[in-house]
Amino acid sequence: MAELLSPGGNLEKIKFAIHYGADAVYCALKKFGLRSQAGNLTKDDYIEALSFVHENNKKLYLTLNAYLFDEDFNQLFEIVDFLNEYPPDGVIVSDLGVLNVISKNTDIPVHVSTQANITNSYAANMLKNFNVKRIVLARELTLNDIKKFKKNTDIELEVFVHGAMCMSYSGRCFISAYLTGRSANRGDCTQSCRWKYAVVEHKRPDMPIDVEEHPEGTFIFNSYDMCALPILPQLIENGVSSLKIEGRMKSLYYVSVVTSVYRDALNTLEEGGNFKSNMPYYLKELGKVSHRPYSFGFYLGQPKQHIKSSGYVKNCDFCGVVSGFSNGYAKIQTRGKIEHGEYEIVSTNLKIKKVFIDALFDYEGNVKKYGNPNEFVYIKVPREVEKLSLLRKCSEGNSREL
Ligand code: SF4
Repeated sequence: MAELLSPGGNLEKIKFAIHYGADAVYCALKKFGLRSQAGNLTKDDYIEALSFVHENNKKLYLTLNAYLFDEDFNQLFEIVDFLNEYPPDGVIVSDLGVLNVISKNTDIPVHVSTQANITNSYAANMLKNFNVKRIVLARELTLNDIKKFKKNTDIELEVFVHGAMCMSYSGRCFISAYLTGRSANRGDCTQSCRWKYAVVEHKRPDMPIDVEEHPEGTFIFNSYDMCALPILPQLIENGVSSLKIEGRMKSLYYVSVVTSVYRDALNTLEEGGNFKSNMPYYLKELGKVSHRPYSFGFYLGQPKQHIKSSGYVKNCDFCGVVSGFSNGYAKIQTRGKIEHGEYEIVSTNLKIKKVFIDALFDYEGNVKKYGNPNEFVYIKVPREVEKLSLLRKCSEGNSREL
């Protein structure tokens, strides 16, 4: 079965991704990993993450996929020394200079990033000569393209299955750099493609003209998010060996829930269970993380743009993490406000149960009216709940038996 690869924006998210079923995580150090706005890892965090992942018999891939300038290479050589001491299971690169340095100075398997836009097997086979073990395919390929690609190469293929898309070629885009000076190719994208645009006539700069594509506005560059869950069997059949969830900047809640859904789907496929009949449940659950409307990306053809709005759909608020259970009470580390009312507790294996909170307590047993973010509160629960379960408040339920 294909590997499930989840984003590890920081040490805590890495631990949750593994807990909720990822086979591997990808993460970055503070330099050269794209996503400079994600927490990323200090060297100490990285060492801890690596040993945590390996203790759980999972894999960790390090992203070094920014495009570098000559002046960056002294720092890259320092990172190479560090990685030789603490080797990850793969390094993800885009820049040919970085590829050359990593493959000549380490024995770490090299993966070529989607940012390098590999769209054909000829490029992949050429990269094999540089010890490249895996290609993260450009996101613009269809299912058929992938099938043809795999017939011509024995290199491992990784594809994105879930998360945000770019309107440009797999993130090689200059809108953000042009408008704000923050470059997507250096991991600092401001998502300028999602902004609302108007036309300005050269001599009347203070008279912007709305391009009325839709009453809500004009979002001509705004991509749908990708959700390839329903076509996982076809992707696997076509020879893909790693399924990647986008989102190193997404929340711990997002990473845990999306990982959990894909884990359950892959287990169902592996065990010959009824993948199709589970689909409505899976999709409803994926609707409970913050996202833009979903599409299949390019897998089934042109995805077009989502022109109505660039806002997120958000049906649930993440309220806290279960950090312990004793005598019928769950200890919650709060991440949002908690009040009286109906909530859901999400645990591993997509176990979701409803709880009604009618009282909150502090650690001395004093009644509290509500819990504020970043404190500990205790709630009564009908039966034992797993540590690291997630507490959320939703506008619509999706619980099934616990
Ligand atoms: S501005 Fe949009 S299309 Fe460009 S890199 Fe950022 S997210 Fe992708």
